[in-house]
This record gives sequence, structure tokens and C-alpha cells, in this order.
Amino acid sequence: MKAGFYLGNHTYEVKEIKDRKPVDHEVKIEVAWCGLCGTDIHKFEGKNGASVVVPPIILGHECSGIVTEVGENCENFKPGDRVACDPSWGCGRCEWCKKGYQNFCIHRHGVAKGFAEYVYPPEENVYKIDHSLDLEDAAFTEPLSCVLHGMDLLNIESGSNIVMYGMGSIGSLMLQLLKLTAPKNLIVVEREENKQELAIELGATKACTDQEIEEIADKLNVDYVIECIGLKNTMEQAIHIAGKRAKVLLFGLGDPEENVSFNQFEAYTKELSIYTSYLNPHTSRKAISLLESGVIDTKKIISARLSLEEMGEELKTKKYSRKGKVMVSLSGKH
Ligand SMILES: [Zn+2]
Ligand SMILES: [Zn+2]
Repeated sequence: MKAGFYLGNHTYEVKEIKDRKPVDHEVKIEVAWCGLCGTDIHKFEGKNGASVVVPPIILGHECSGIVTEVGENCENFKPGDRVACDPSWGCGRCEWCKKGYQNFCIHRHGVAKGFAEYVYPPEENVYKIDHSLDLEDAAFTEPLSCVLHGMDLLNIESGSNIVMYGMGSIGSLMLQLLKLTAPKNLIVVEREENKQELAIELGATKACTDQEIEEIADKLNVDYVIECIGLKNTMEQAIHIAGKRAKVLLFGLGDPEENVSFNQFEAYTKELSIYTSYLNPHTSRKAISLLESGVIDTKKIISARLSLEEMGEELKTKKYSRKGKVMVSLSGKH
């Protein structure tokens, strides 16, 4: 089978590797689609993703597909099942797993490297999807589940003033969930005009630039700020524009080498709560339910559908990733 590897030092290559039979509780899945994640680009650029990266590794973790074969102890799946994967495996036995936080599992590792024709996750990481759900949409399960975890941390009250930064693919998902919380104002901060337009289309009450938001935030108490870019400047501004008793979620993945600073006295007088969100503990099924319900528009977010081979160029240039979500077509089935 073909698989797209990151070999270290900004090198990506599609290689032929042996496919194999699934064993034990494994489910062999013919991958249909795999989303390109910001963390894949981070890895390609020599930084860590959600975990430490030691190349060579197969990229990708946001995949969907069709079951072709199952291991001898697999109980819940059969060939032909349409499925999505949660790539983050937890042992279920360590203290963190027992507390319900498998994102901190001391044995945690990735189990569905989706830039490949087949993946072999254990069945606990596989979810059946409804026939009404397109396999391409189903590949949004993992990013949406991460966004849902962030949303759950914030526990947003209806009628609030919300500001969100960044209309990349994560921001575009986050915005649609924020809209479902019935906000009074839902303002998107975004420099690019076409992405501002997308924000309005997807439910923002206003879209503006980072310069304009300062003035707007002076006139209303911003109750929630969600940063979905991961840049030092926007993270610092997000904390600065937050109103009294606000909750700030720094969702965008920052540069591991960089610090963010803020004025403690200012944060103190506003009684701010600052959150970060790590991975997706127990949110995959919820993400699939939301995708199945049709309230999340994924098609508007997709900027390109590329082959495994075309990913080499994309990882270097980020031509389409800058515009939205890049989907890698493996079997390309729907
Ligand atoms: Zn991801
Ligand atoms: Zn564990």
C-alpha cells in the first residue's frame, strides 16, 4: 500500500509499504479521506505536533473509510462498515484514563496514520457512521471532536458577546458551534476579506480586522474570546480585549519556542479565566452526531482535494491550506 511519510528535514515522500492482516481487536480500514491538520504542517516544519515527533512517520490522523477486514477478537465491526477514527489511543487503565482524561494517558499514542491506503486502529478508536453521512464529511470527526472539547471547557451561556480569531479550518468549525450557543454578538477577527465573507456566511454577526476589534471591544463587554490562530500577537490581543469575568480560550497551536505575555494587573481587575484545550477526550461520538445532524457545513471550508503525491508540494507551499481545509483523497469514496 502507499503511504505519505515525513522523513525529517522538510522531506515528504510517498512510499510503498506492505499492508497486512488486522490482528486482535484491530479493524483494517480502507481510508477514503484524510484531512490535512495544522499539526501535520508543524511536523513537516520540524516542530512537534500534539506529541514529540521522531521521523520517519506517516502523516495524517483525520480519516474516514470502509472496513475491509477485522482481527480475530474484534466484536463490533464487520467488512463494509462505514467508519471514522479517533486517532488518539488511551490505555484505559492509567490514572488519567481512569479519571476520564485519555488525552493525558501516560501510554497515549496515535493509532490511525491516515496518509495511507489502510489504517489498523483498535476497535475502541473506531466509530460507525450513518449512511446519510458522506465519508468526506466523516473525516472531520477528529478536528470537530477537538473543537468540541474546547467548547465543553468554556460552557458558554446564551446571550453572550463572543469574539473569535481566525477563519482557518478550525476557526470555521468553532464558529459554527459558537453560533449554536445563541450568542448576542458573535464577532470574527480575520484579516482576509474572503474569509471575513465566509464568517458572515457561517453565522458571524460581524467580521473585522485586529485593528478594528480594539475599538469594538471598548464598547461592549466581551464575555468569551476564542483564539484559533496560535500567533503570539493575536493570543495577547485576545487576552487584552476580554471583558470583565471573561473566559479566554487559546485554542490555536502556538510556536513551542515562543512565550505569550499579558498584564497580570489588567487580567486581575477583569477576573479573567484563561483556558487551553488539549485533544479530544470522549468527544468523537458527539462530533459524529453533529456531523450527521447536518448543522455543520464542511463543504464550504474545503479548499482543495489532493492526492497523496500532491501533498509534497502542498506541505512546502501551503497554497491551499492557507485558504481552508485540504482533504487528501485516498480511495476517494463517499
Ligand atoms: Zn488534527
Ligand atoms: Zn491511560
